[in-house]
Amino acid sequence: MTVHSPETPEGEVTVALGEDYPDLRESVRRICKDFPSEYWRKLDEARAYPTEFVQAMTASGFLGALIPEEYGGSGLPLRAAAVILEEINACGCTASPVHAQMYIMGTLLRHGSDEQKRRYLPKIASGQLRLQAFGVTEPTTGSDTTQLRTRAEKRGNVYVVNGQKVWTSRALHSDLMLLLARTTPVDQVKKRTEGLSTFIIDLREARGHGMEIRPIKALINHNTTEVFFDNLEVPPENLIGEEGQGFRYILDGMNAERILVASECIGDGRWLLDKGVAYANQRRVFGRPIGQNQGVQFPLARAYAELEAADMMARRAAALFEAGKPCGPDANMAKLLASEATWHAAEAAMQTHGGFGFAQEYDVERKWREARIYQTAPISTNLVLAYLGQHVLGLPRSY
Ligand SMILES: Cc1cc2nc3c(=O)[nH]c(=O)nc-3n(C[C@H](O)[C@H](O)[C@H](O)COP(=O)(O)OP(=O)(O)OC[C@H]3O[C@@H](n4cnc5c(N)ncnc54)[C@H](O)[C@@H]3O)c2cc1C
Repeated sequence: MTVHSPETPEGEVTVALGEDYPDLRESVRRICKDFPSEYWRKLDEARAYPTEFVQAMTASGFLGALIPEEYGGSGLPLRAAAVILEEINACGCTASPVHAQMYIMGTLLRHGSDEQKRRYLPKIASGQLRLQAFGVTEPTTGSDTTQLRTRAEKRGNVYVVNGQKVWTSRALHSDLMLLLARTTPVDQVKKRTEGLSTFIIDLREARGHGMEIRPIKALINHNTTEVFFDNLEVPPENLIGEEGQGFRYILDGMNAERILVASECIGDGRWLLDKGVAYANQRRVFGRPIGQNQGVQFPLARAYAELEAADMMARRAAALFEAGKPCGPDANMAKLLASEATWHAAEAAMQTHGGFGFAQEYDVERKWREARIYQTAPISTNLVLAYLGQHVLGLPRSY
């Protein structure tokens, strides 16, 4: 099928329909079979990290899917990575550590020096190093990223970092963290997007030497934390790219991130919908399957239609991305539509299960909780709408 890119009417890209990458999907399903619902349920209860699952995904090469072959990865296209994430979640597993490594690594790959790429990427691909933590969000500034307060000040031969991050997921289970910090005070730059820099932090060396990590108890098992910096010394060779350009580097990776997250949502939505449909067919009340009632059937049918539409948008965004065409609006719309479709599937599955939806052994309540995150992180819905309003529709900037 051929679709037109809205920004480049002359440009055409090809979008595959149906089960694209069937072999890849099958390999993911085979590994996921070893991690059934009980595994995830136990981790959820203990708020523990899926070490064995991440090891299996690394050994199979899926965590290094986007790392080029010259650095020991599989060098797959973005759509293939999206398919991996979708299938993981559609199998009832949790793709978040896999997605994190896929897109955090992108900044290093695109903007790191040859030396940095040689130092880190092969070890990330082999699983010797985990790069699964991304420190952007701060407690006082939230979505207003350019106002973040964590400072990295050049003093002699080192950068000295002070400040605090919040919601830094997997910081206790990662060897490296990508940090966004201000290197030039905001009143000394022409644009507030300037003066921010990205660093690779070696968490193993930093903990207890100017950096502390505290877990946050949260609605979902995301291994998320607060990170405190108190005169943490970071060597200049850990700066990625040019000083002051970090915000641009993070923005560069946003479209890929939105596309990956959209596919992850769609996977969760497919799992939730399958559960809802199976239960609606099997549960009999008033002498007939509950799915015979339109009040039960229609929310499931609507969620299915919404998921299909979101999937089409995610495929279109990925195709534009691969073709090197502008894909900001498509990537943002894919994430917006997928996060909402998945939530509607979660609500339909929950309601269909009646009281049993609340029982942990059905796993629906866990996936329902997990499906809620996509409307808030990695970016909340209003910020996506503001992007579309301003950059696509030409409405006044709202913030
Ligand atoms: C489980 C979890 C894991 C996370 N993992 C990470 C991570 O690994 N690394 C990381 O850096 N961050 C992470 N985050 C943080 C996440 O990216 C932020 O929570 C998100 O970007 C929203 O920021 P905030 O929470 O500060 O909300 P705020 O910015 O305070 O916004 C609160 C509400 O106000 C709305 N709002 C704010 N400003 C406007 C405006 N101008 N117009 C309209 N609406 C507005 C927002 O849409 C939102 O609904 C995680 C969050 C969670 C919950």
